[in-house]
Amino acid sequence: MAKDIFGCNLRELQELFAPYKLPRFRARQVAEWMYQKGVHHFEEMTNLPKALRPQLDAAFTIQQPVCRDRLDSIDGRTSKFLLAFADGTAVETVLMRQPYGNSVCVSTQAGCNMGCAFCASTVHGMARNLTTGEMLAQVIYINDALREAGEGKVDTLVIMGSGEPLMNYEAVVAFLRLLHEPYVLGMGYRNITLSTSGIVPSMLLLAEEGMPISLSVSLHAPNQELRSQIMPINRKYPLADVIAAAKNYAEKTGRRVTYEYILIDRLNDGEAQARELVKLLRGQLCSVNLIPINPVKERNLLRPGRMRIDWFEGYLRQHGLTVTVRREMGKDIQAACGQLRNKHLQEQ
Ligand code: SF4
Repeated sequence: MAKDIFGCNLRELQELFAPYKLPRFRARQVAEWMYQKGVHHFEEMTNLPKALRPQLDAAFTIQQPVCRDRLDSIDGRTSKFLLAFADGTAVETVLMRQPYGNSVCVSTQAGCNMGCAFCASTVHGMARNLTTGEMLAQVIYINDALREAGEGKVDTLVIMGSGEPLMNYEAVVAFLRLLHEPYVLGMGYRNITLSTSGIVPSMLLLAEEGMPISLSVSLHAPNQELRSQIMPINRKYPLADVIAAAKNYAEKTGRRVTYEYILIDRLNDGEAQARELVKLLRGQLCSVNLIPINPVKERNLLRPGRMRIDWFEGYLRQHGLTVTVRREMGKDIQAACGQLRNKHLQEQ
């Protein structure tokens, strides 16, 4: 069976091509074709020796995901893709056309088994981890589409789609290193944000990788009890340890950590929680991103009214925290992660 080479780095390609007596620089040429030029057959790689191309086509494949569904928001800024891989597993990938460039949100697992109360991705559990190549394929798929449409390229990446990236640690780190390579997209680590529900041992490891990506920690509650209610993983990795690991990350990398806080009506958006949150975070190199919940019909959790959101934001700001409220994008196309995939799973 032909081996899929999409997701291989230069060294891996060189090893695979060694039996064909290809000079080492040919690996870079192949990488540029498949990662930068949207070419998926050796026959079309015109700078490879003509006689060799059929042999390579017989021995290797360059797998591409198939787009099963696509939704574009009315304002044209957000596009959501349901991409299916060779075994039929499908994940969501989102393109957000931001004022500062094109941002892509990738999935790292098909589904998720972290069980966060507000999240549609976890409703059907986790099917499997994605491979390095499948994560990269999501970015390259959108990069190719942008280039063909004359819309530029992918500028920034957020790892906030379905799945807990730090539960798929090695494949995710390999994916980020690959993305950074000049023969892929040459993406700066500072243009990458990884969001975690707080897998403490992996947060500590990540701080040692020498990759200064931005770390975003899903907090969603200011105390152990409420956080465990919203995020079951908090029973395994308690809030205090998550905060300590986030501080360690900021110290080691010099990068400000962002705490994501989903505002859920009458659950975590009251004065008591605002006060606790200030006490918990004051003095840290961090910012708080408030995210009014995209209501999830399976979970019966509601979005607070505008006044409650404004009050919560104002309270944090007045008490010295750096705070932003996430702008709504793509509400009309079910932007909350997992909703499009769930719809397809239900239809099957
Ligand atoms: S929020 Fe993230 S970690 Fe939590 S269940 Fe959803 S995908 Fe998993």
